[in-house]
Amino acid sequence: MLSEKLSKNIKKLADLIKDKKEFVAFTGAGISTESGIPDFRGPRGIWKKYKPIMLREFLSNPQDREEYWRRKIELYPALSSAEPNIGHVSLAEIFKAGFLKYVITQNIDGLHQKAGIPVENVIELHGSNTYISCLSCGKRYEWEDILPLFDKGVKAPKCAKCEGWLKPATISFGQSMPEKETAMALEIARKIKILVVVGSSLQVYPAASIPGITTQAGGIFAIINNTSTVQDTAADIILTGNAGDILKELRINLIK
Ligand code: NAD
Repeated sequence: MLSEKLSKNIKKLADLIKDKKEFVAFTGAGISTESGIPDFRGPRGIWKKYKPIMLREFLSNPQDREEYWRRKIELYPALSSAEPNIGHVSLAEIFKAGFLKYVITQNIDGLHQKAGIPVENVIELHGSNTYISCLSCGKRYEWEDILPLFDKGVKAPKCAKCEGWLKPATISFGQSMPEKETAMALEIARKIKILVVVGSSLQVYPAASIPGITTQAGGIFAIINNTSTVQDTAADIILTGNAGDILKELRINLIK
């Protein structure tokens, strides 16, 4: 049951969206915790257990490279079997009703697409964990083809074509952001009149600069998160609670 104040603020956001006709969602790991995928910085986040491995450590230190793959294989069952939750599904329904223009996501789990938002409307700023690629030549590999190598004792696989290091196609700390997606996200953030952040601590730059781009261009910026964030003071509307509950209510307010 949502509090009266929260319900009132969700209605306020829905009315603004109806007035401006469309919005963009900027999502982070928090939208997927209800699908069983842990976030990084939330109360039960991955960084409570592990320290991040930088790209240069992955490339230069065999132990870090092997540890990186060990963690990825540990997380693989949860990530590959995860299903969209009510938050992803509500956003997909809002998209079909014409109010949601794009999802700019920091997530690597592919759940927005699995929920039914077309691939071309989901901008993945941090790549995707749904496949593997070679850091040298870019050749794509599927998980099913690489996983059996670990059963044969391989600890960090290499590219069959060029011998480069293979890595899930996500952007690690210290790795460049994808050029096309970044340029597109910046342009969309500048043009859209309402940007709704869902489940992000807004601490990972350059992605966390996106809301500032919308507000500098005169747009409205809302945050849906279960804790406070470092950018709360800059937001026009703050909806505190579970992303799934709030997005479901937003969908009801927008579509009925
Ligand atoms: P983050 O872990 O820094 O922050 C997540 C935020 O969501 C936290 O403030 C947390 O309190 C909040 N949250 C958690 N569950 C919630 C829920 N059910 N409802 C509302 N809020 C909830 O995540 P970030 O800002 O996305 O940045 C971390 C980086 O982590 C990103 O670059 C992303 O690539 C990566 N990541 C992705 C996944 C994924 O794809 N699902 C999972 C873990 C990390």
